[in-house]
Amino acid sequence: MGSVETTEPYQPKKRLFIGLLCLACSLILLFAFLLWWVPSIGLTNIHPVLPIIFGTLLAVVSFVIVGGLSLLVLTLVSGRDLFFSQRLRGVVIKYLFPGIIAIGRLFGVDRDTLQQSFIALNNQLVRAKELRVPAEKALILLPHCIQLFDCAIKITGDVDKCVRCGQCDISGLAELARSRKVDIAVATGGTLARKLIVEKRPRFILAVACERDLTSGIRDAYPLPVIGVLNRRPHGPCFNTHIILEEVTRALDEHVVSDRT
Ligand code: SF4
Repeated sequence: MGSVETTEPYQPKKRLFIGLLCLACSLILLFAFLLWWVPSIGLTNIHPVLPIIFGTLLAVVSFVIVGGLSLLVLTLVSGRDLFFSQRLRGVVIKYLFPGIIAIGRLFGVDRDTLQQSFIALNNQLVRAKELRVPAEKALILLPHCIQLFDCAIKITGDVDKCVRCGQCDISGLAELARSRKVDIAVATGGTLARKLIVEKRPRFILAVACERDLTSGIRDAYPLPVIGVLNRRPHGPCFNTHIILEEVTRALDEHVVSDRT
């Protein structure tokens, strides 16, 4: 059960990603051992010290990889910026994510659940930075499916055109952004999202979307810090979706300095 198709609150499962990271750690160690053990017999024939040199080299590489992964797990467990959390987020986003997804799929975990776990883990690494940006440097990005399908107002391009009729969650989000003086925009796809980021040059993004779009958005936007908030889909995907406004408010409280005048 990976998808979020109801309005029930849900707990992101970052533990799943941590578990898979630990598994990846064990596989790396096993692979390093085999890489040393198998050719060491042949290396002894060339020179008796070669297995020791090769083994030391592999041990150093394994130590760096396992040390980095352990630091990542400790950062996630403690929720604090221990060391290099920005770099660690980069390593997760660029290198570990595809591997973890592959390992997870191997164990029968569905893609949505893995992506939820990745988003939760990304959010925690961003939170660990305790980043605070001025309101004008923050951007809220929304998917168009949050708007009521039958609404006659075209809010793509200007969310403030919403007349706050309250029939969909755009109303509350637009009001929240206005009161906090934070830019808010609807991105109908990755290309528009990238264009908005280039134009507005934010230092912090709060993105609302489904698992797939949030995952690709977080990866595309790196190194920009993105907090991902999953939408709720009681009517199925991409149609009259919802947002829990408190989740957005909390993320703004945590990361955006606002005079609220
Ligand atoms: S809240 Fe705004 S966007 Fe939603 S239906 Fe009403 S006018 Fe349209």
